[in-house]
Amino acid sequence: MTDIGEEKPIQALTDLPGVGPTTAKKLEEAGFSTLEALAIASIGELVAAADIGEKTASKIIESARGSLDLSFETADVIYERRKAITRLTTGSTTLDQLFGGGVETNGIMELFGEFRTGKTQIAHQLCVSVQMPNSEGGLEAGAIYIDTEGTFRPERIVQMAERFGLDYNEILKNIEVGRAYNSDHQMVLVDQFTDRAKNKDIRLLVVDSLTSHFRAEYVGRGTLAERQQKLNKHMHTLLRLAEINNISVVVTNQVMAKPDQFFGDPTTPIGGHIVAHACTTRVYLRKSKGNRRIARVVDSPWLPESEAVFAITENGIEDA
Ligand code: ADP
Ligand code: MG
Repeated sequence: MTDIGEEKPIQALTDLPGVGPTTAKKLEEAGFSTLEALAIASIGELVAAADIGEKTASKIIESARGSLDLSFETADVIYERRKAITRLTTGSTTLDQLFGGGVETNGIMELFGEFRTGKTQIAHQLCVSVQMPNSEGGLEAGAIYIDTEGTFRPERIVQMAERFGLDYNEILKNIEVGRAYNSDHQMVLVDQFTDRAKNKDIRLLVVDSLTSHFRAEYVGRGTLAERQQKLNKHMHTLLRLAEINNISVVVTNQVMAKPDQFFGDPTTPIGGHIVAHACTTRVYLRKSKGNRRIARVVDSPWLPESEAVFAITENGIEDA
């Protein structure tokens, strides 16, 4: 219903210059399904995603930006948005303190460590705490859990919910679990976030594990570049989701022990600097005595490098 002479507001991707149904489909499949995503995409990303020329890509980005009015904003607006960043509790006060008051929204937290160090347990716990009242360290919202290893356990959620006297049926209903069978599938599930979050307040997105499929599918030197490229795109999508929706994205990454190395650099997680670069907070987990675990914040721009001890119990994540 546009009058002649009036500019047509951009609503669908096909309204963008140079975007026909085929290109729109390719863009959508690559995760560029919204104007927001296109507005902050790079030319190279769009060229690769949709088989289009640089000129077309540049025009698409420009008009997406134009329709969103993204270019500059005054500091008070940024201040308001920063104030909207909230934190959710891990269930352990020492761990929350280590994270500066809990797991932040508007960014990605990477939990990396060896097998059985508690990555999946923390991810489960966050799916419960995100639903708790604000006054108890929650965000009163739901979670999406992308499970790549088949280790999501609703029974564990029930235990963790009961600890806080919550109705576990309600808690279970507010966690949407997507089982990803390969890295492409994993990326498609992430792209569905916006759709799933349309009629529902979702403030936590877990990808457990971020890297297992990538590790298994891309072996050998020849395929490393391809893997890193794809992972890079995946990380960008996750970061966009975190910032646009003000949600917490929590990803896990398993690392192999390096017996010949004491401490130095424990960071041999898959993805290397590509993953590291995109993550707001990186947490290295290691085992201690019994059910105790040690978390260490590494290379955070604003948190000191320090450690906290927590415990994994029947109740979930607790102080040691
Ligand atoms: P990963 O880092 O490999 O994802 P997990 O998060 O699965 O490791 O952590 C596994 C640890 O959690 C194990 O040491 C296990 O003993 C502990 N754990 C799992 N479920 C329970 C439970 N119900 N009660 C107590 N500890 C548990
Ligand atoms: Mg795990």
